[in-house]
Amino acid sequence: MVPDSASEREMTVSGSSEDGDVLDLADDEGWEDLEPDVETVKVVCLLCDVVFEGAQSMLEHCKDNHQLDIVSIRKDLGLDFLDVVKLVNYIRSEVKVGVQKPDISAKSNFQDEQYLLPVLEDDALLWNLHDIVGQDPDDVDEDTGGVSVKAPSGTTTDRNDENRVAELEMKLQLAEVELEARRNEIKFLQLKFEESLDRDDARERDMIAASSGMGPARNAPMLGNTDSSYFASYSGHEIHETMLKDTVRTDAYRDFIYENKHLFEGKTVLDVGCGTGILSMFCARAGAAKVIAVDNSDIIDFARENVYKNGMGEIISCLRGKIEEVVLPVKKVDIIVSEWMGYCLLYEAMLDSVIWARDQYLTPDGLMIPSHCTLHIAPMTDSEYIEDHIHHWKNVYGFDMISMYKDIYNDVMVREVQDFAVPAESAPFLRLSLKTTKTEELTFASKTFACELKADIEALDGFVIWFDTFFLTRPDGQVPTEAKAEEYVREGGECVAFTTGPHGKRTHWQQGVLLIDYRDKQSIPLKKGQVVNGTIGYQKRRDDNRALDINLHWQIDDSQQKWKQSWSMC
Ligand code: SAH
Repeated sequence: MVPDSASEREMTVSGSSEDGDVLDLADDEGWEDLEPDVETVKVVCLLCDVVFEGAQSMLEHCKDNHQLDIVSIRKDLGLDFLDVVKLVNYIRSEVKVGVQKPDISAKSNFQDEQYLLPVLEDDALLWNLHDIVGQDPDDVDEDTGGVSVKAPSGTTTDRNDENRVAELEMKLQLAEVELEARRNEIKFLQLKFEESLDRDDARERDMIAASSGMGPARNAPMLGNTDSSYFASYSGHEIHETMLKDTVRTDAYRDFIYENKHLFEGKTVLDVGCGTGILSMFCARAGAAKVIAVDNSDIIDFARENVYKNGMGEIISCLRGKIEEVVLPVKKVDIIVSEWMGYCLLYEAMLDSVIWARDQYLTPDGLMIPSHCTLHIAPMTDSEYIEDHIHHWKNVYGFDMISMYKDIYNDVMVREVQDFAVPAESAPFLRLSLKTTKTEELTFASKTFACELKADIEALDGFVIWFDTFFLTRPDGQVPTEAKAEEYVREGGECVAFTTGPHGKRTHWQQGVLLIDYRDKQSIPLKKGQVVNGTIGYQKRRDDNRALDINLHWQIDDSQQKWKQSWSMC
């Protein structure tokens, strides 16, 4: 078993205290007000459990006993101070998981920012690194093992002052990184606490959802009514596997990014909700100079590891937190990439966060990926489905289980609808241009729609909702008003696009099904050429603004008979 902190190690103190503070600050003119560092420090070996009184003797031990010469490595790889910090934490983290000889042959192996964080609590080596390494690799004096960066005792040169200032700046940077990590830990604990409070509530929702047939958020546990359960639903592997394996979705992002590398070269990209880091890595591979990957779910830890393993640590920075709360290392970005689309497009309300990020960080001529989305509605008729999934409950092995579908008419179901079950062209009822869309547009009371039947139908069983997504290359590009994704692509439209409609290849979003409740009214057969028309509204729920209420009013042609019904997604 590999120990995971210095305190758990069986301490064997070795070496001498002679190498306590080689800088001898007290003798440096101008630094008299600084406390000389005379404490004896305990430094744990990088590769074994032996503890030394001082960094220098530990490093000599590494050189003699483990053939690990940090000073030479530093010189050979041209490492600066922060690189050495990363190297130390990298070695410690590898040793912690049982690697006996971490691969330090290339600088890229330990460039991820995660290695700025100490692996050992109060790792004395980190705080004494300046004794061993100078500010830049050329400062290393091979004869003295790298200690020549310090001015001779009693003299102060400009160079020496500069070194000291640079060194303190680096220490400050390190402390800031550490502080940020601690802040995030506190946030995380707070999150876990909130989560435990609403876990029961979420469980209850799961049960309601299960009984209604409504699918969970992208096959993750159902959303609770707080953000903590929302982000917890994105922390596991399964949901990300589902999304990554949705090739319609993931291929579209990949194709757009790889086919338009000129848009990415040298650019700064913000990935809102990076998940596993897939979109960030596409962008980095396409030539982006910097990618900032943000996610507020535990998945960010995997994203960081994925980025590192793929050697992209120098380009992609992974930040944990809500996009609305994290502090980005840049003021503006050239491109925002995000996969924010929920069931029926707006369930989850993640687009609100993307719009916020756009207004905050995107340069005026910046690019949104994807650039446009269109919501569609169409009538549905599927007697077989109704028989199998609704009437079925009237007689289950001779028992009336009708109570099982009490919510079936109140909830939007996420289902794969067969193409034949859609007897009319769909009507687009909301077009979003992501560069300009405002949050207010995402809730609406009554968008009109009209769908002409292409065939006679026995009954209008319900409505189907889906969305199309477009990826335009020009920040000010427009999708033609009537464009449907699949036709647009087929007809050589100048962009990548995909549909989540019943006539397209299956996606994990499937379709939203709104079944008409005929318990107190009679369904009627309809004829080819008749028009199902009405209005549709999307409202956020008051008790959970990631959930949706969808309201429909409709009639057939201009008949006096009006219908209305509401469905929820929560
Ligand atoms: N980009 C990934 C994951 C998409 S799923 C991919 O394409 O595979 C959406 C991700 O966004 C989730 O991991 C979720 O945790 C994250 N997310 C949603 N809202 C967020 C917000 N406001 N701030 C940070 N992350 C957010």
